[in-house]
Amino acid sequence: MSETVQRRAGHGPRTRETRTRGRSRRGRTPHADRRGTVGAASGAGFDNINPATEEVLGQVANGSAADMRRAIASARRAFDESDWATNHGLRKRCLEQLQEALESEREQLRAELVAEAGAPVAVTHLAQLEWPLADALRWPAKMIDEFPWERELPDGGLMGPSKRVVRKEPIGVVGAIVPWNFPFEVTANKLGPVLAMGNTIVIKPAPDTPFNATRLGRLIAEKTGIPPGVVNVVTSSDHLVGEELTLDPRVDLISFTGSTATGKRIMERGAATLKKVFLELGGKSAMVVCDDAGFAAVLPMAGAACMHAGQGCALQTRVLLPRSRYAEGVEILTAVMSNIPYGDPTDPTVLSGPQISALQRDRVQAHNDRAVAQAARLVVGGGRPAHLPRGFFIEPTLFADVDNSMAIAREEVFGPVLAVLAYEDDDAVRIANDSVYGLSGGVFSASHERAMNIANRIRTGSVGVNGGLWYGADSPYGGYKSSGIGRQNGIEGLEQYTQTKALAWPA
Ligand code: NAD
Repeated sequence: MSETVQRRAGHGPRTRETRTRGRSRRGRTPHADRRGTVGAASGAGFDNINPATEEVLGQVANGSAADMRRAIASARRAFDESDWATNHGLRKRCLEQLQEALESEREQLRAELVAEAGAPVAVTHLAQLEWPLADALRWPAKMIDEFPWERELPDGGLMGPSKRVVRKEPIGVVGAIVPWNFPFEVTANKLGPVLAMGNTIVIKPAPDTPFNATRLGRLIAEKTGIPPGVVNVVTSSDHLVGEELTLDPRVDLISFTGSTATGKRIMERGAATLKKVFLELGGKSAMVVCDDAGFAAVLPMAGAACMHAGQGCALQTRVLLPRSRYAEGVEILTAVMSNIPYGDPTDPTVLSGPQISALQRDRVQAHNDRAVAQAARLVVGGGRPAHLPRGFFIEPTLFADVDNSMAIAREEVFGPVLAVLAYEDDDAVRIANDSVYGLSGGVFSASHERAMNIANRIRTGSVGVNGGLWYGADSPYGGYKSSGIGRQNGIEGLEQYTQTKALAWPA
Protein backbone atom coordinates (compact mmCIF):
# COMPACT_ATOMS: atom_id res chain seq x y z
CA MET A 1 0.00 0.00 0.00
CA SER A 2 1.41 3.35 -0.95
CA GLU A 3 1.27 6.33 1.34
CA THR A 4 -1.57 7.79 -0.69
CA VAL A 5 -3.54 4.60 -0.32
CA GLN A 6 -3.10 4.67 3.42
CA ARG A 7 -4.09 8.30 3.53
CA ARG A 8 -7.12 7.54 1.48
CA ALA A 9 -8.14 4.49 3.37
CA GLY A 10 -7.51 5.94 6.81
CA HIS A 11 -8.62 9.55 6.60
CA GLY A 12 -10.27 9.82 3.26
CA PRO A 13 -13.80 9.84 2.21
CA ARG A 14 -16.75 9.38 4.48
CA THR A 15 -20.18 10.76 5.17
CA ARG A 16 -22.14 11.13 8.36
CA GLU A 17 -24.00 7.90 8.20
CA THR A 18 -22.87 5.81 5.33
CA ARG A 19 -19.75 5.58 3.36
CA THR A 20 -17.86 2.61 2.13
CA ARG A 21 -14.15 2.18 2.23
CA GLY A 22 -11.64 -0.56 1.69
CA ARG A 23 -10.12 -1.22 5.09
CA SER A 24 -12.76 -3.18 6.95
CA ARG A 25 -11.83 -6.79 7.50
CA ARG A 26 -13.43 -9.33 5.25
CA GLY A 27 -16.63 -10.78 6.65
CA ARG A 28 -17.00 -8.23 9.43
CA THR A 29 -20.37 -6.57 9.74
CA PRO A 30 -19.72 -2.92 8.98
CA HIS A 31 -20.91 -0.34 11.47
CA ALA A 32 -20.38 3.38 11.44
CA ASP A 33 -17.44 4.95 13.27
CA ARG A 34 -17.99 8.20 15.13
CA ARG A 35 -17.64 10.18 11.91
CA GLY A 36 -20.15 7.97 10.11
CA THR A 37 -17.72 5.97 8.04
CA VAL A 38 -18.50 2.35 7.39
CA GLY A 39 -16.47 -0.19 5.47
CA ALA A 40 -17.64 -2.11 2.44
CA ALA A 41 -19.14 -5.33 3.70
CA SER A 42 -16.73 -7.30 1.55
CA GLY A 43 -13.69 -5.28 2.63
CA ALA A 44 -12.73 -4.92 -1.02
CA GLY A 45 -11.26 -1.81 -2.59
CA PHE A 46 -10.44 -0.69 -6.11
CA ASP A 47 -7.80 1.53 -7.67
CA ASN A 48 -8.26 5.11 -8.76
CA ILE A 49 -6.05 5.70 -11.81
CA ASN A 50 -4.51 8.96 -13.00
CA PRO A 51 -5.49 9.00 -16.70
CA ALA A 52 -2.55 11.22 -17.66
CA THR A 53 0.12 8.97 -16.14
CA GLU A 54 -1.67 5.62 -15.67
CA GLU A 55 -0.40 5.62 -12.08
CA VAL A 56 -2.52 4.41 -9.19
CA LEU A 57 -3.56 7.39 -7.07
CA GLY A 58 -5.02 5.35 -4.27
CA GLN A 59 -7.93 3.10 -3.42
CA VAL A 60 -11.53 3.47 -2.42
CA ALA A 61 -14.04 0.97 -1.11
CA ASN A 62 -15.66 -1.31 -3.62
CA GLY A 63 -19.24 -1.03 -2.42
CA SER A 64 -21.71 -3.79 -3.24
CA ALA A 65 -25.45 -3.82 -3.86
CA ALA A 66 -25.89 -4.63 -0.16
CA ASP A 67 -23.78 -1.60 0.80
CA MET A 68 -25.93 0.53 -1.48
CA ARG A 69 -29.10 -0.76 0.16
CA ARG A 70 -27.69 0.23 3.58
CA ALA A 71 -27.04 3.73 2.27
CA ILE A 72 -30.57 3.94 0.89
CA ALA A 73 -31.96 2.83 4.26
CA SER A 74 -29.92 5.53 5.94
CA ALA A 75 -31.17 8.23 3.57
CA ARG A 76 -34.74 7.02 3.96
CA ARG A 77 -34.49 7.08 7.75
CA ALA A 78 -33.00 10.56 7.77
CA PHE A 79 -35.80 11.82 5.55
CA ASP A 80 -38.64 10.14 7.43
CA GLU A 81 -37.43 10.59 10.98
CA SER A 82 -35.53 13.87 11.21
CA ASP A 83 -36.73 17.46 10.75
CA TRP A 84 -34.42 18.00 7.76
CA ALA A 85 -37.37 18.14 5.35
CA THR A 86 -39.07 20.97 7.24
CA ASN A 87 -36.26 22.91 8.92
CA HIS A 88 -35.39 25.69 6.48
CA GLY A 89 -33.00 27.43 8.86
CA LEU A 90 -30.97 24.28 9.47
CA ARG A 91 -30.67 23.56 5.77
CA LYS A 92 -29.53 27.06 4.96
CA ARG A 93 -26.95 27.03 7.74
CA CYS A 94 -25.65 23.61 6.67
CA LEU A 95 -25.27 24.63 3.03
CA GLU A 96 -23.36 27.72 4.10
CA GLN A 97 -21.09 25.57 6.29
CA LEU A 98 -20.48 23.23 3.38
CA GLN A 99 -19.66 26.14 1.11
CA GLU A 100 -17.06 27.31 3.58
CA ALA A 101 -15.67 23.80 4.02
CA LEU A 102 -15.28 23.32 0.27
CA GLU A 103 -13.56 26.65 -0.08
CA SER A 104 -11.14 25.68 2.69
CA GLU A 105 -9.99 22.75 0.54
CA ARG A 106 -10.28 24.46 -2.83
CA GLU A 107 -6.69 23.76 -3.88
CA GLN A 108 -6.86 20.11 -2.79
CA LEU A 109 -10.06 19.75 -4.80
CA ARG A 110 -8.35 21.32 -7.80
CA ALA A 111 -5.31 19.05 -7.60
CA GLU A 112 -7.55 16.03 -7.15
CA LEU A 113 -9.66 16.85 -10.21
CA VAL A 114 -6.50 17.27 -12.26
CA ALA A 115 -5.17 13.95 -11.01
CA GLU A 116 -8.24 11.71 -11.10
CA ALA A 117 -10.30 13.26 -13.93
CA GLY A 118 -7.31 14.36 -16.05
CA ALA A 119 -8.90 17.81 -16.04
CA PRO A 120 -6.52 20.50 -17.30
CA VAL A 121 -5.77 22.89 -14.49
CA ALA A 122 -7.02 25.74 -16.71
CA VAL A 123 -10.42 24.05 -16.90
CA THR A 124 -10.60 23.87 -13.09
CA HIS A 125 -10.77 27.66 -13.23
CA LEU A 126 -13.94 27.28 -15.28
CA ALA A 127 -16.71 24.67 -15.11
CA GLN A 128 -14.64 21.93 -13.55
CA LEU A 129 -14.35 23.70 -10.17
CA GLU A 130 -14.54 27.49 -9.86
CA TRP A 131 -17.90 28.03 -11.52
CA PRO A 132 -19.79 25.47 -9.42
CA LEU A 133 -17.85 26.49 -6.31
CA ALA A 134 -19.11 30.04 -6.83
CA ASP A 135 -22.83 29.32 -6.82
CA ALA A 136 -23.91 25.65 -6.94
CA LEU A 137 -24.60 25.69 -3.19
CA ARG A 138 -24.93 29.44 -2.58
CA TRP A 139 -27.79 30.07 -4.96
CA PRO A 140 -29.99 27.18 -3.75
CA ALA A 141 -29.22 28.18 -0.13
CA LYS A 142 -30.46 31.69 -0.89
CA MET A 143 -33.52 30.24 -2.63
CA ILE A 144 -34.63 28.41 0.52
CA ASP A 145 -36.02 31.81 1.62
CA GLU A 146 -37.21 32.91 -1.81
CA PHE A 147 -38.70 29.74 -3.30
CA PRO A 148 -42.51 29.85 -3.71
CA TRP A 149 -43.20 27.00 -1.28
CA GLU A 150 -46.91 27.78 -1.18
CA ARG A 151 -49.46 29.57 -3.30
CA GLU A 152 -53.09 30.32 -2.63
CA LEU A 153 -55.83 29.54 -5.12
CA PRO A 154 -59.13 31.42 -5.24
CA ASP A 155 -61.71 29.88 -2.89
CA GLY A 156 -63.38 26.85 -4.42
CA GLY A 157 -67.16 26.33 -4.31
CA LEU A 158 -67.86 22.88 -5.72
CA MET A 159 -69.08 21.27 -2.47
CA GLY A 160 -69.41 24.38 -0.36
CA PRO A 161 -66.81 27.11 -0.08
CA SER A 162 -63.22 25.91 0.42
CA LYS A 163 -59.92 27.62 1.08
CA ARG A 164 -57.31 26.15 -1.23
CA VAL A 165 -53.52 26.19 -1.26
CA VAL A 166 -50.86 24.42 -3.30
CA ARG A 167 -47.78 23.44 -1.35
CA LYS A 168 -44.36 22.29 -2.51
CA GLU A 169 -42.71 19.59 -0.42
CA PRO A 170 -39.41 17.77 -0.80
CA ILE A 171 -39.64 14.71 -3.01
CA GLY A 172 -37.84 12.43 -0.55
CA VAL A 173 -34.76 10.30 -1.16
CA VAL A 174 -32.77 11.20 -4.26
CA GLY A 175 -30.37 8.77 -5.92
CA ALA A 176 -27.66 10.85 -7.61
CA ILE A 177 -25.65 9.04 -10.26
CA VAL A 178 -22.65 11.04 -11.40
CA PRO A 179 -20.35 10.73 -14.45
CA TRP A 180 -16.59 11.08 -14.56
CA ASN A 181 -16.23 14.03 -16.92
CA PHE A 182 -17.20 16.91 -14.60
CA PRO A 183 -17.54 15.05 -11.31
CA PHE A 184 -17.47 17.95 -8.87
CA GLU A 185 -19.58 20.23 -11.06
CA VAL A 186 -22.28 17.63 -11.51
CA THR A 187 -22.26 16.52 -7.87
CA ALA A 188 -22.40 20.08 -6.51
CA ASN A 189 -25.21 21.02 -8.90
CA LYS A 190 -27.22 18.04 -7.69
CA LEU A 191 -26.38 18.40 -4.02
CA GLY A 192 -27.21 22.11 -3.68
CA PRO A 193 -30.77 21.95 -5.04
CA VAL A 194 -31.48 18.51 -3.53
CA LEU A 195 -30.54 19.64 -0.01
CA ALA A 196 -32.03 23.11 -0.31
CA MET A 197 -35.39 21.58 -1.17
CA GLY A 198 -35.25 19.34 1.92
CA ASN A 199 -34.38 15.97 0.45
CA THR A 200 -31.84 13.38 1.47
CA ILE A 201 -29.42 11.90 -1.03
CA VAL A 202 -27.31 8.89 -1.95
CA ILE A 203 -24.44 9.87 -4.23
CA LYS A 204 -22.95 7.23 -6.52
CA PRO A 205 -19.81 8.69 -8.15
CA ALA A 206 -18.40 7.20 -11.33
CA PRO A 207 -15.82 4.46 -10.71
CA ASP A 208 -13.19 6.57 -12.50
CA THR A 209 -13.50 9.66 -10.27
CA PRO A 210 -14.42 8.73 -6.70
CA PHE A 211 -12.07 10.96 -4.67
CA ASN A 212 -13.86 14.27 -5.11
CA ALA A 213 -17.10 12.70 -3.87
CA THR A 214 -15.51 11.05 -0.88
CA ARG A 215 -13.73 14.30 -0.01
CA LEU A 216 -17.14 15.95 -0.08
CA GLY A 217 -18.44 13.25 2.26
CA ARG A 218 -15.59 13.79 4.69
CA LEU A 219 -16.09 17.57 4.67
CA ILE A 220 -19.80 17.12 5.35
CA ALA A 221 -19.04 14.81 8.26
CA GLU A 222 -16.29 16.89 9.77
CA LYS A 223 -17.24 20.46 9.04
CA THR A 224 -21.02 20.77 8.78
CA GLY A 225 -24.06 20.14 10.92
CA ILE A 226 -25.78 18.14 8.17
CA PRO A 227 -27.54 15.41 10.18
CA PRO A 228 -26.48 11.76 9.88
CA GLY A 229 -27.94 9.98 6.87
CA VAL A 230 -28.85 13.13 4.92
CA VAL A 231 -25.88 12.73 2.56
CA ASN A 232 -24.45 9.32 1.72
CA VAL A 233 -21.64 8.46 -0.68
CA VAL A 234 -21.20 4.96 -2.04
CA THR A 235 -18.19 4.21 -4.21
CA SER A 236 -18.08 1.12 -6.39
CA SER A 237 -16.32 -0.21 -9.45
CA ASP A 238 -19.55 -1.94 -10.45
CA HIS A 239 -22.02 0.14 -12.46
CA LEU A 240 -24.85 -2.13 -11.39
CA VAL A 241 -24.44 -0.99 -7.79
CA GLY A 242 -25.85 2.29 -9.13
CA GLU A 243 -28.75 0.34 -10.53
CA GLU A 244 -29.85 -0.54 -6.99
CA LEU A 245 -30.93 3.08 -6.72
CA THR A 246 -33.23 2.73 -9.70
CA LEU A 247 -34.73 -0.53 -8.41
CA ASP A 248 -35.28 0.35 -4.76
CA PRO A 249 -38.79 1.56 -3.84
CA ARG A 250 -37.33 3.66 -1.01
CA VAL A 251 -35.71 5.97 -3.57
CA ASP A 252 -38.14 8.61 -4.87
CA LEU A 253 -36.16 10.17 -7.71
CA ILE A 254 -33.07 9.39 -9.76
CA SER A 255 -30.95 12.36 -10.74
CA PHE A 256 -28.65 11.03 -13.43
CA THR A 257 -26.01 12.60 -15.62
CA GLY A 258 -24.29 10.40 -18.17
CA SER A 259 -24.87 8.55 -21.41
CA THR A 260 -28.20 8.36 -23.21
CA ALA A 261 -27.98 4.55 -23.23
CA THR A 262 -27.71 4.39 -19.43
CA GLY A 263 -30.44 7.04 -19.09
CA LYS A 264 -32.81 4.84 -21.08
CA ARG A 265 -31.92 1.84 -18.95
CA ILE A 266 -32.60 3.82 -15.78
CA MET A 267 -36.08 4.70 -17.06
CA GLU A 268 -36.73 1.10 -18.00
CA ARG A 269 -35.53 -0.37 -14.73
CA GLY A 270 -37.13 2.43 -12.71
CA ALA A 271 -40.53 1.87 -14.29
CA ALA A 272 -41.38 -0.94 -11.87
CA THR A 273 -41.41 1.55 -8.99
CA LEU A 274 -42.58 4.46 -11.16
CA LYS A 275 -39.37 6.28 -10.40
CA LYS A 276 -39.27 10.01 -11.08
CA VAL A 277 -36.24 10.81 -13.18
CA PHE A 278 -34.05 13.74 -14.03
CA LEU A 279 -31.80 12.72 -16.90
CA GLU A 280 -29.02 14.92 -18.27
CA LEU A 281 -27.65 12.97 -21.20
CA GLY A 282 -25.56 13.22 -24.34
CA GLY A 283 -25.30 15.89 -27.00
CA LYS A 284 -24.07 16.59 -30.51
CA SER A 285 -24.44 20.32 -30.49
CA ALA A 286 -24.07 22.53 -33.54
CA MET A 287 -22.11 25.74 -33.87
CA VAL A 288 -23.89 27.63 -36.64
CA VAL A 289 -21.69 30.24 -38.31
CA CYS A 290 -23.46 32.69 -40.62
CA ASP A 291 -21.86 34.05 -43.78
CA ASP A 292 -21.66 37.56 -42.29
CA ALA A 293 -19.74 36.41 -39.18
CA GLY A 294 -16.15 37.54 -38.58
CA PHE A 295 -14.50 34.18 -39.17
CA ALA A 296 -11.08 35.15 -37.79
CA ALA A 297 -12.60 36.10 -34.44
CA VAL A 298 -15.33 33.46 -34.26
CA LEU A 299 -13.78 30.23 -35.49
CA PRO A 300 -11.05 29.99 -32.82
CA MET A 301 -13.93 29.51 -30.37
CA ALA A 302 -14.64 26.19 -32.08
CA GLY A 303 -11.45 24.92 -30.44
CA ALA A 304 -13.46 24.83 -27.19
CA ALA A 305 -14.72 21.45 -28.44
CA CYS A 306 -11.33 20.13 -27.27
CA MET A 307 -11.72 21.45 -23.75
CA HIS A 308 -11.07 18.64 -21.27
CA ALA A 309 -10.33 16.36 -24.22
CA GLY A 310 -13.82 16.87 -25.60
CA GLN A 311 -15.39 15.12 -22.64
CA GLY A 312 -18.30 17.48 -22.20
CA CYS A 313 -21.90 16.87 -23.18
CA ALA A 314 -22.63 20.51 -24.09
CA LEU A 315 -19.60 21.05 -26.33
CA GLN A 316 -20.28 22.23 -29.88
CA THR A 317 -18.83 19.37 -31.89
CA ARG A 318 -20.44 20.07 -35.27
CA VAL A 319 -19.39 23.29 -36.97
CA LEU A 320 -21.80 24.38 -39.70
CA LEU A 321 -20.15 26.68 -42.26
CA PRO A 322 -21.88 28.44 -45.18
CA ARG A 323 -20.87 26.87 -48.50
CA SER A 324 -19.92 30.33 -49.81
CA ARG A 325 -17.08 30.65 -47.24
CA TYR A 326 -16.44 26.97 -46.57
CA ALA A 327 -12.82 26.73 -47.81
CA GLU A 328 -11.84 29.83 -45.88
CA GLY A 329 -13.47 28.47 -42.73
CA VAL A 330 -11.79 25.07 -42.99
CA GLU A 331 -8.44 26.76 -43.40
CA ILE A 332 -8.90 28.74 -40.17
CA LEU A 333 -10.21 25.69 -38.32
CA THR A 334 -7.20 23.68 -39.50
CA ALA A 335 -4.91 26.23 -37.91
CA VAL A 336 -7.01 26.31 -34.74
CA MET A 337 -7.08 22.53 -34.31
CA SER A 338 -3.39 22.15 -35.18
CA ASN A 339 -2.51 24.49 -32.35
CA ILE A 340 -4.70 23.21 -29.51
CA PRO A 341 -2.40 22.92 -26.48
CA TYR A 342 -2.82 19.35 -25.31
CA GLY A 343 -1.03 16.88 -23.06
CA ASP A 344 -0.10 17.11 -19.37
CA PRO A 345 -3.15 18.46 -17.52
CA THR A 346 -0.98 19.97 -14.77
CA ASP A 347 0.49 22.36 -17.38
CA PRO A 348 -1.55 25.57 -17.00
CA THR A 349 -1.41 26.30 -20.74
CA VAL A 350 -3.04 22.98 -21.69
CA LEU A 351 -6.68 22.88 -22.86
CA SER A 352 -7.02 19.20 -23.73
CA GLY A 353 -5.80 16.47 -21.37
CA PRO A 354 -6.23 12.71 -21.57
CA GLN A 355 -9.38 10.66 -22.08
CA ILE A 356 -10.55 9.27 -18.76
CA SER A 357 -9.59 5.66 -19.46
CA ALA A 358 -8.14 3.30 -22.02
CA LEU A 359 -11.71 2.25 -22.78
CA GLN A 360 -12.74 5.82 -23.60
CA ARG A 361 -9.59 6.41 -25.65
CA ASP A 362 -10.33 3.31 -27.68
CA ARG A 363 -13.95 4.38 -28.15
CA VAL A 364 -12.80 7.75 -29.52
CA GLN A 365 -10.28 6.06 -31.78
CA ALA A 366 -13.02 3.79 -33.12
CA HIS A 367 -15.17 6.86 -33.89
CA ASN A 368 -12.24 8.42 -35.77
CA ASP A 369 -11.56 5.25 -37.74
CA ARG A 370 -15.19 4.95 -38.70
CA ALA A 371 -15.27 8.57 -39.87
CA VAL A 372 -12.33 7.87 -42.18
CA ALA A 373 -14.01 4.71 -43.42
CA GLN A 374 -17.17 6.73 -44.18
CA ALA A 375 -15.09 9.18 -46.26
CA ALA A 376 -14.96 12.16 -43.94
CA ARG A 377 -11.76 14.11 -44.74
CA LEU A 378 -9.25 13.82 -41.92
CA VAL A 379 -7.50 17.19 -41.74
CA VAL A 380 -5.82 17.24 -38.33
CA GLY A 381 -4.90 14.49 -35.85
CA GLY A 382 -6.97 11.33 -35.85
CA GLY A 383 -4.86 9.07 -33.66
CA ARG A 384 -2.75 8.66 -30.55
CA PRO A 385 0.11 11.17 -30.14
CA ALA A 386 3.48 9.45 -30.49
CA HIS A 387 5.13 11.80 -28.02
CA LEU A 388 2.71 10.85 -25.23
CA PRO A 389 3.18 7.10 -24.84
CA ARG A 390 1.79 7.08 -21.30
CA GLY A 391 -1.69 8.29 -20.50
CA PHE A 392 -4.89 7.91 -22.47
CA PHE A 393 -4.33 10.65 -25.04
CA ILE A 394 -5.93 11.30 -28.42
CA GLU A 395 -4.76 14.07 -30.74
CA PRO A 396 -7.07 17.04 -31.33
CA THR A 397 -8.81 15.95 -34.51
CA LEU A 398 -10.56 17.77 -37.32
CA PHE A 399 -12.79 16.16 -39.93
CA ALA A 400 -13.95 18.24 -42.90
CA ASP A 401 -16.44 17.44 -45.67
CA VAL A 402 -18.65 15.71 -43.16
CA ASP A 403 -22.17 14.86 -44.21
CA ASN A 404 -24.77 14.97 -41.46
CA SER A 405 -25.69 11.35 -42.14
CA MET A 406 -22.22 10.13 -41.14
CA ALA A 407 -21.72 8.61 -37.70
CA ILE A 408 -19.17 11.31 -36.82
CA ALA A 409 -21.97 13.89 -37.20
CA ARG A 410 -24.64 11.86 -35.42
CA GLU A 411 -22.98 10.15 -32.47
CA GLU A 412 -21.52 11.63 -29.33
CA VAL A 413 -17.75 11.01 -29.55
CA PHE A 414 -16.66 12.45 -26.19
CA GLY A 415 -13.19 13.13 -27.53
CA PRO A 416 -11.30 16.18 -28.89
CA VAL A 417 -12.91 15.75 -32.28
CA LEU A 418 -14.56 18.40 -34.43
CA ALA A 419 -16.68 17.74 -37.52
CA VAL A 420 -17.14 20.48 -40.14
CA LEU A 421 -20.20 20.52 -42.37
CA ALA A 422 -21.17 22.85 -45.20
CA TYR A 423 -24.69 24.24 -45.51
CA GLU A 424 -26.49 26.05 -48.33
CA ASP A 425 -28.50 29.23 -47.83
CA ASP A 426 -30.92 28.74 -44.92
CA ASP A 427 -30.32 25.04 -44.38
CA ALA A 428 -28.28 25.39 -41.17
CA VAL A 429 -31.25 25.12 -38.82
CA ARG A 430 -32.48 21.96 -40.51
CA ILE A 431 -29.02 20.36 -40.19
CA ALA A 432 -28.61 21.51 -36.58
CA ASN A 433 -31.99 19.96 -35.77
CA ASP A 434 -31.32 16.76 -37.72
CA SER A 435 -30.02 14.99 -34.60
CA VAL A 436 -31.45 12.73 -31.93
CA TYR A 437 -29.86 15.11 -29.45
CA GLY A 438 -30.78 18.65 -28.42
CA LEU A 439 -28.61 19.77 -25.53
CA SER A 440 -26.84 22.95 -26.53
CA GLY A 441 -25.51 25.00 -29.42
CA GLY A 442 -24.14 28.28 -30.64
CA VAL A 443 -24.97 30.82 -33.35
CA PHE A 444 -22.66 33.48 -34.75
CA SER A 445 -23.67 36.37 -36.99
CA ALA A 446 -22.80 40.02 -37.41
CA SER A 447 -26.52 40.65 -36.95
CA HIS A 448 -27.93 39.96 -33.48
CA GLU A 449 -31.44 39.67 -34.92
CA ARG A 450 -30.35 37.15 -37.50
CA ALA A 451 -28.53 35.08 -34.85
CA MET A 452 -31.53 35.22 -32.50
CA ASN A 453 -33.84 34.12 -35.28
CA ILE A 454 -31.71 31.01 -35.79
CA ALA A 455 -31.27 30.40 -32.05
CA ASN A 456 -35.05 30.45 -31.60
CA ARG A 457 -35.49 27.73 -34.22
CA ILE A 458 -32.90 25.28 -32.90
CA ARG A 459 -34.58 22.58 -30.82
CA THR A 460 -32.11 22.46 -28.00
CA GLY A 461 -31.96 23.21 -24.26
CA SER A 462 -29.44 26.07 -24.44
CA VAL A 463 -27.94 28.31 -27.09
CA GLY A 464 -25.09 30.78 -26.84
CA VAL A 465 -25.58 33.69 -29.21
CA ASN A 466 -22.38 35.32 -30.45
CA GLY A 467 -20.41 33.74 -27.62
CA GLY A 468 -22.86 34.50 -24.80
CA LEU A 469 -22.69 32.08 -21.86
CA TRP A 470 -25.94 30.79 -20.37
CA TYR A 471 -24.32 28.76 -17.55
CA GLY A 472 -25.09 29.42 -13.87
CA ALA A 473 -26.82 27.93 -10.82
CA ASP A 474 -29.87 30.08 -11.62
CA SER A 475 -30.00 28.96 -15.26
CA PRO A 476 -31.88 25.78 -16.19
CA TYR A 477 -29.72 23.35 -18.11
CA GLY A 478 -30.91 20.21 -19.85
CA GLY A 479 -31.93 18.59 -23.05
CA TYR A 480 -34.60 18.27 -25.69
CA LYS A 481 -35.14 14.89 -27.37
CA SER A 482 -32.61 12.19 -26.41
CA SER A 483 -30.50 14.69 -24.48
CA GLY A 484 -32.67 14.24 -21.44
CA ILE A 485 -35.63 14.96 -19.23
CA GLY A 486 -35.81 17.79 -16.73
CA ARG A 487 -33.39 20.55 -15.89
CA GLN A 488 -30.36 21.00 -13.71
CA ASN A 489 -30.44 24.33 -11.86
CA GLY A 490 -32.71 27.33 -12.07
CA ILE A 491 -36.20 27.39 -10.56
CA GLU A 492 -37.02 24.44 -12.81
CA GLY A 493 -34.19 22.48 -11.26
CA LEU A 494 -35.38 23.25 -7.73
CA GLU A 495 -38.98 22.31 -8.55
CA GLN A 496 -37.81 19.01 -9.91
CA TYR A 497 -36.76 17.95 -6.42
CA THR A 498 -40.19 18.70 -4.97
CA GLN A 499 -43.62 17.13 -4.83
CA THR A 500 -46.81 19.12 -5.15
CA LYS A 501 -49.65 18.85 -2.66
CA ALA A 502 -53.06 20.52 -2.97
CA LEU A 503 -54.82 21.25 0.33
CA ALA A 504 -58.31 22.50 1.04
CA TRP A 505 -60.46 23.28 4.10
CA PRO A 506 -63.87 24.82 4.61
CA ALA A 507 -63.77 28.58 4.05
P1 NAD B 1 -22.37 5.93 -18.23
O1 NAD B 1 -23.59 6.70 -18.56
O2 NAD B 1 -22.44 4.46 -18.38
O3 NAD B 1 -21.94 6.22 -16.70
C1 NAD B 1 -22.30 7.37 -15.98
C2 NAD B 1 -22.64 6.96 -14.54
O4 NAD B 1 -23.71 6.03 -14.55
C3 NAD B 1 -21.51 6.29 -13.77
O5 NAD B 1 -21.57 6.68 -12.42
C4 NAD B 1 -21.86 4.82 -13.89
O6 NAD B 1 -21.31 4.03 -12.86
C5 NAD B 1 -23.37 4.85 -13.79
N1 NAD B 1 -24.06 3.73 -14.39
C6 NAD B 1 -23.70 3.00 -15.46
N2 NAD B 1 -24.63 2.05 -15.72
C7 NAD B 1 -25.61 2.21 -14.81
C8 NAD B 1 -26.85 1.56 -14.58
N3 NAD B 1 -27.28 0.56 -15.34
N4 NAD B 1 -27.61 2.00 -13.56
C9 NAD B 1 -27.22 3.03 -12.79
N5 NAD B 1 -26.06 3.67 -12.96
C10 NAD B 1 -25.26 3.27 -13.96
O7 NAD B 1 -21.18 6.54 -19.05
P2 NAD B 1 -19.79 5.83 -19.49
O8 NAD B 1 -19.97 4.41 -19.89
O9 NAD B 1 -18.82 6.10 -18.41
O10 NAD B 1 -19.45 6.68 -20.79
C11 NAD B 1 -19.99 6.27 -22.05
C12 NAD B 1 -20.39 7.43 -22.91
O11 NAD B 1 -21.37 8.18 -22.22
C13 NAD B 1 -19.29 8.45 -23.22
O12 NAD B 1 -18.54 8.08 -24.29
C14 NAD B 1 -20.09 9.68 -23.48
O13 NAD B 1 -20.53 9.70 -24.81
C15 NAD B 1 -21.29 9.54 -22.58
N6 NAD B 1 -21.17 10.33 -21.33
C16 NAD B 1 -21.92 11.45 -21.24
C17 NAD B 1 -21.83 12.24 -20.11
C18 NAD B 1 -22.64 13.49 -19.96
O14 NAD B 1 -22.24 14.39 -19.21
N7 NAD B 1 -23.79 13.61 -20.59
C19 NAD B 1 -20.97 11.90 -19.06
C20 NAD B 1 -20.23 10.72 -19.18
C21 NAD B 1 -20.35 9.95 -20.32
